Formats: sequence, structure tokens, C-alpha cells
Amino acid sequence: MQNEKIALVTGAGRGIGRQIALKLAEQGITVIVNYNGSEEAAESVVNKITESGGRAKAVKCNVSDYKETEEMIASIVKEFGRLDILVNNAGITADNLMVRMTEEDFDKVININLKGAFNTIKHVNRQMIKQRYGRIVNISSVVGVTGNAGQANYAASKAGIIGLTKSAARELASRNVTVNAVAPGFIQTEMTDKLPENVKEQMQSQIPLKRLGTTEDIAAAVSFLVSEDASYITGQVIEVNGGMNM
Ligand code: NAP
Repeated sequence: MQNEKIALVTGAGRGIGRQIALKLAEQGITVIVNYNGSEEAAESVVNKITESGGRAKAVKCNVSDYKETEEMIASIVKEFGRLDILVNNAGITADNLMVRMTEEDFDKVININLKGAFNTIKHVNRQMIKQRYGRIVNISSVVGVTGNAGQANYAASKAGIIGLTKSAARELASRNVTVNAVAPGFIQTEMTDKLPENVKEQMQSQIPLKRLGTTEDIAAAVSFLVSEDASYITGQVIEVNGGMNM
């Protein structure tokens, strides 16, 4: 059955974002599959959704670009008439110890991971207030809570996501718009595949549940937060990390 809700998932061509898009579509939600570089992957997510009877559309946008993000959101609202759910998933890493981290790598990670989420929230704000309805979920990370050597840029961006989430939650609560964050632990995707084997083994040994997380583990938490069952939850950070941080 078609659900009337429209969702935008950023960075939804691959990894965690792809799984979130598929999970929301399973519930009949129309999903806008945002991508920046992975057009083919994004189109294959759209095909998978439409082949199962759902509605989806791929939209290219670099979320770190303020103007491009404004245009993407305006075009979604123009075409679909509303925008109910925003999932800020797009993110990158550029790891290095701070002695070797370049200014460019710091700025790039902050601009995509943190400013990208500001850009989308900023531009969905008015529409969600007008609708008196909205669900925003921002993907943070366990390292945004704990910090991590070699990830000063990434951890700062993900800690920033938590402050952004709580501030937006306070600004929008009176308009029935909830804003929450999901902080994944160590999830098996292309982002973590590129880590050296010894780092992966060392990380896995620190997970009480003794397995890496899956993209489904994260999509399930997001799906709950955008559901009616979570309508009294806002400004929270749900940690989905196998107990890595308690
Ligand atoms: P991934 O497989 O590397 O995918 C990253 C996604 O972000 C891609 O879809 C990519 O789209 C998109 N993206 C990057 N730059 C973008 C931009 N400027 N504009 C729009 N989209 C952009 O990573 P992942 O593991 O699925 O991670 C997804 C999110 O979860 C990230 O925010 C990440 O920080 C967070 N997270 C992941 C883990 C983990 O263990 N994997 C743990 C904690 C948090 P294109 O390919 O189209 O550019």
C-alpha cells in the first residue's frame, strides 16, 4: 500500500544510506535517493524499489554546496508537494593523525559531514514547519561521542552533528518536527572495508556483541525513529554499536 510520506536520504546510492532507502521504501514511503558521485548505484537503488512496487527517484546533489542543496530541496517540494522525512547520511572520512592532517582534509570532512547536514536541515525547515510534521534523522558516529586518534576531523564533524541535532530538535519541537541522531559503531561498508585488517580485528575485539554491525542494524533504528511509534522521541542520540560505547 502506498504511504503518502516523502523521504530524502542523502548519500543513498551505497552503504548505510542505500539500506535506509530500501527499508523506508518497504514501508511504502516514496524515497528520494540522493547521490553525488555514484549515479549508477543510485539508479540501481531506484530500480530495486520500483521493481518491488515502490516509488523512488535519484537526485544528484553535493550536500556540502549550500545553493545546490537549496535547489534540490525546492525541486523535491515542487514535484511531490511535501517532504516529511530527512535522513542526513552522506559522509566521508579522510583519516590521519593531526600532525599529518592537512587543512584541506579537515575542511572537506567538516563541509560534507557537518555543513551538509546543516544545509539540508536549513532548507527543509520551512516546509516541515508549514506541514506541522517532520522527522529528521542525522547519522553521527560512535567516534563523535568517544573521539578517535587519527580521526580528529571526522570525530569533530560527528560530535557537531549531535549538537546540531539537539539544537534543531529544540527549535522545531513545537511544530511537531522531531530531530534525532543515530550513532553507528563499526558497520561493514566500503567506508570500513578500506581499513587495514589489523585495525579491523582490533576494533572487533572491542565490541561486546562480537560482530561488526550491518547496514540493516542502522536502517532499523532509522526506520523506528521516523515511525509514529517514535513520535515522542526528539533530541536523542541512539547508539547502535554492539555495546562498543556504554
Ligand atoms: P560509504 O559506503 O562510504 O558511503 C558514503 C555515502 O555518502 C555515499 O553514498 C556517498 O555518495 C555519500 N556522499 C559522500 N559525499 C557526498 C556529498 N558531498 N554529497 C552527497 N552525498 C555524499 O559510507 P557508509 O559507511 O555507508 O556511511 C554512511 C554514513 O554513516 C556516513 O555519514 C558515515 O560517517 C556514517 N557512519 C558509518 C560507519 C561505518 O562503520 N561504516 C560508522 C559510523 C558512522 P556518492 O558515492 O554518490 O558520492
